[in-house]
Amino acid sequence: MADPREHQDAITARIDPSSWDELPIGLFAFDLGGRIINYNDAFIELLGVSVTTGLAFERCTSPQLNLVEASNRVLSGETVRVSGWYHGPERQPRFIRATMSPSVQHDGHITGGVGIIEDATEQRRYEERMEHLSSLDPLTELYNRKKVNDLLAAVAENPSQSSDAAVIMLDIDYFKLVNDTFGHPTGDLVLRAIAQLLRRNIRKTDAIGRWGGEEFLIVAPHSTLSEGVRLADKLRQKVNDEPFGPVPHVTCSFGVSSFEGGKSVEQVLKDADEALYVAKNMGRNQVSSKR
Ligand code: GH3
Ligand code: MG
Ligand code: MG
Repeated sequence: MADPREHQDAITARIDPSSWDELPIGLFAFDLGGRIINYNDAFIELLGVSVTTGLAFERCTSPQLNLVEASNRVLSGETVRVSGWYHGPERQPRFIRATMSPSVQHDGHITGGVGIIEDATEQRRYEERMEHLSSLDPLTELYNRKKVNDLLAAVAENPSQSSDAAVIMLDIDYFKLVNDTFGHPTGDLVLRAIAQLLRRNIRKTDAIGRWGGEEFLIVAPHSTLSEGVRLADKLRQKVNDEPFGPVPHVTCSFGVSSFEGGKSVEQVLKDADEALYVAKNMGRNQVSSKR
């Protein structure tokens, strides 16, 4: 029969935390009381905690990375994956991903938990950058139509904003003529310049996107319909007053509507579109609104 001590040595070697120190990911184990009983160097380094003052999940938790709550769920039998920005003491925030599972005895009893943590800051920053780029229109660098739709949906779902958010739809007048006269590349330049001009003249909390070829949409939270009309008229005047490269005079027509009265996104867009149509028919370089 094999020496039971050999068997015990094999188990100890398998779980000896000192052999974990070479690994670039953090490893840890905790007991039924949620106390961290084993850890490697990377765990300490990633969370920036000091061993001398004692280790507890309470001391390495941030609002976005709640390891206390996660470890409690593990102790009730769940495998838990959490990630979030973590603000360790005296250092830059890091984006941490953690996975924890219960340690289960042969008889099925949970004796604690084990877990790994990784620094995913670079990956997260890359993802955020990609998310941001995928919400932009490449030519104008304003939001694209999909992002504007998402923003409109968010406003409609938030009653505190939807009661008083104005929506402005605008379209460059006779833009085909700009292209035909000055060429398509100059048309592009005008589109970009108008986009920048509009963005410079709205509030930080307003959102602007390219709705179509030479159409833009502005969402202005906490604005009544008449405030939306005032903003539209300010923008109309700005575009009217400014030369755009070789194109001496460009104008836009504006249709304004609002979420007032609990309108749906579809209705708000329909009303803005109809108002814009009216502004075009009134002779262009006009603002029209529909309640
Ligand atoms: P209206 O006053 O009725 O709006 O007249 P318009 O000429 O602006 O309207 P129309 O819809 O007939 O033409 C829009 C033009 O916008 C046609 C299209 O080639 C041009 N356009 C759309 N997207 C782009 C773009 O990305 N770059 C350039 N240069 N032109 C574009
Ligand atoms: Mg046009
Ligand atoms: Mg158009």
